[in-house]
Amino acid sequence: MPRTVLVTGGNRGIGRAIADAFTDAGDDVVVTYRSGEPPDGLVGVRCDVTDTGAVDRAFTEVEEKFGRVDVLVANAGITKDQLLLRMSDEDFTSVLDTNLTGAYRVTKRAVRGMLRSRHGRIVLISSVVGLLGSPGQTNYAASKAGLVGFARSLVRELGPRDITVNVVAPGYVETALTEVLTPERQQQIKQQVPLGRTATSDEIAGVVRWVASDEAAYVTGAVIPVDGGLGMGH
Ligand code: NDP
Repeated sequence: MPRTVLVTGGNRGIGRAIADAFTDAGDDVVVTYRSGEPPDGLVGVRCDVTDTGAVDRAFTEVEEKFGRVDVLVANAGITKDQLLLRMSDEDFTSVLDTNLTGAYRVTKRAVRGMLRSRHGRIVLISSVVGLLGSPGQTNYAASKAGLVGFARSLVRELGPRDITVNVVAPGYVETALTEVLTPERQQQIKQQVPLGRTATSDEIAGVVRWVASDEAAYVTGAVIPVDGGLGMGH
């Protein structure tokens, strides 16, 4: 039986690779997108994760089409980097609202159906930065670290209903999110990675697909680094 997988921000970048990985495994995949059209070959629902009403409408659309959401991947995320003293309240709160509260909104809506079917898989996309810290990213790091506490509390709430909640923490992946970094900063990061290179989006996607699979049925509350060793020990 194909499962229904919803990937927020699955229209591009890492989310797109995650959507493709589940599609290749035979699942029914729906991605969220905010504007334009969903990518060719993928089913899309329009959704801004900062809008609770839009989240509810997106899930209702998926449920009408596929019955339920079995796997949620909360991947949508943004950065607004700035040193603390130059950071505006809006820079801080909007990153928290998208990355952390957005994950809360979609998870809360997904859990409704998962509790009914007494089964579910939730994967939250964090970052090595949430564990290691990074100058200029206090907002982003706080949002990504927050996902860990959120996930681990949920594990304790939802475990008895066979709902697993795990966090995947990628290192540096070349996408639109990281192309804003200066070439010098990109080079600096690569030099710090024990594997000496950046990750491909597919390398992140493979781990997300695995942790949502039956093979990982007994894995919950884990924070899985996919970072070439960059954050080891944290
Ligand atoms: P991209 O910038 O390429 O893609 C971000 C995705 O998030 C887009 O699909 C975007 O949708 C979506 N998104 C952003 N804000 C919202 C919102 N308010 N509502 C709905 N969707 C939204 O980033 P990546 O693919 O690199 O990042 C994906 C995730 O992986 C993020 O959570 C990021 O923090 C995390 N990550 C990335 C790393 C990297 O090195 N790239 C490293 C560690 C973690 P739209 O197209 O509509 O803008």
